[in-house]
Amino acid sequence: MLEYTPDRRPTGGLRLPAHKEASTAQPIARGFVPRTLVLALQQHQGPPTTPVVRRGERVLRGQVVARARALRSAAVHASTSGHVRAIEDRLVPSVHAVHRTRCIVIDADGEDEPLPPGAGSAWPEDPEKQLKSIRDGGIVGLGGGVFPTAEKLGPQTPCKVLIINGVECEPYISCDDMLMREAAAEIVDGALIMRELLAAPECIVAVERDKPQAIEALLEAGRASGDASLRLADIPTIYPTGGERQLVEMLTGEEVPSTHYPSEIGYICQNVGTAFAVHRLVRAGEPLLSRVVTVAGDGIARPQNVETPIGTPIGELIEFCGGYRGDVDRLILGGSMMGYALPNDEMPITKGSNCLIAAARTEVRQDFSERFCIRCGNCGTACPARLLPQELLRAARDNDHALLDEFGLTDCIECGCCDVICPSHIPLTEVFRNAKFAHARYQRQEVFSAETQQRFRRHEERERADVQRGKDLQDQIRHEVETDEPARQQAIEAAIERARQRRSQDTDSE
Ligand code: SF4
Ligand code: SF4
Repeated sequence: MLEYTPDRRPTGGLRLPAHKEASTAQPIARGFVPRTLVLALQQHQGPPTTPVVRRGERVLRGQVVARARALRSAAVHASTSGHVRAIEDRLVPSVHAVHRTRCIVIDADGEDEPLPPGAGSAWPEDPEKQLKSIRDGGIVGLGGGVFPTAEKLGPQTPCKVLIINGVECEPYISCDDMLMREAAAEIVDGALIMRELLAAPECIVAVERDKPQAIEALLEAGRASGDASLRLADIPTIYPTGGERQLVEMLTGEEVPSTHYPSEIGYICQNVGTAFAVHRLVRAGEPLLSRVVTVAGDGIARPQNVETPIGTPIGELIEFCGGYRGDVDRLILGGSMMGYALPNDEMPITKGSNCLIAAARTEVRQDFSERFCIRCGNCGTACPARLLPQELLRAARDNDHALLDEFGLTDCIECGCCDVICPSHIPLTEVFRNAKFAHARYQRQEVFSAETQQRFRRHEERERADVQRGKDLQDQIRHEVETDEPARQQAIEAAIERARQRRSQDTDSE
């Protein structure tokens, strides 16, 4: 594996304090078995899965409990053995917020009994069946986006470069770093399996420079694989370089157009955790049952990374890490920049949950009162998406949808850089997040009213055409009658005959 340093600097971004020392001080904790599982039927971007178990049924570790019925979906498995207690609606964290969705609730029996060996399907030869195995194995993007991996590896787009994303730039989150240190060979293997599926000529593993142990482990694994298509790019530690668009630009110099996904211009990004999951599925027949979760913050007794069964209630995971400590201000899912506060710790860890922060009062940004924008331009300099946040702010507060479009609201990745740097303490990201909802609603209404107008116009045109057709017919008959004497006589006689018949009918009825 060749190591190289891209000569480009990321656009915008910030150098932030890492807060990762405590959680990386010990290896990933393994072997944790929860007492309960709450398995959401929809833990991915796409249609929900369909349950295939009943209340009271005993399930084994690795057993499918909900099947993917659509291409853009991913199956759900029992991550430990136990009995199905209920199938009901619960609150579950998703990418940007908590939502209510159908869940399978399992009471674990503590035996953690797996499916018998060979019960899982073997890795097929045919690429199409391989994609189906990945879908049936429940694998989704573990970087947080939870896009079904099989969909992303499909043959729809030619892939120039497969990018394995090990850029974990958010403060507090260290699950990928620890996985790269401890399972570099497995990650490289998973990356090569995906490269083959995509027939990509090149594969770049991207890692930040502040992760020397991960870099060393990956280089060694890359060399051992002997694969010449692999390269390792060490990149500067600037938040948010780990965003797909930012990373593609940083590595290749190509800007991803705002209306496109990176895959549409030939770059497929997969997280290191996803590569590891693909390796486990192909080499050990194991579906996605667990993920590494960083449990961090001053409000946790023992901050660490834990290999956590999917569906574990957050409260049980915190208990495994020694419970809460001191005065916890809030519980945040995700990093301190892009994560969000949870209402309680009863919700489960899902496939997309990478970090849990029990933040003490001292770790939380104080609520300063907002002041006027002084147009200092700091936010524009920090914006990795090359936006003008101060202009977006004005457009959002004026509800000016045309201007929001013009200033590229939808390109905002809600990274929070503008917030952090703003001397007037304006909650810019929150304003943009709300504006996106309002803008999407406005666009839907616009589309609806355009369609309604179009339907009305079509209806009017049809009516006009019908009237015209009637007129044309009358004209045609009149013309034929006037120009054709025998036809005219015939028409007169027919009319006289009709009148005579009517009269005789009237006389009969009298
Ligand atoms: S950083 Fe804040 S004060 Fe400065 S231009 Fe941006 S919004 Fe205005
Ligand atoms: S939150 Fe949006 S506008 Fe603000 S810096 Fe990030 S991408 Fe730019």
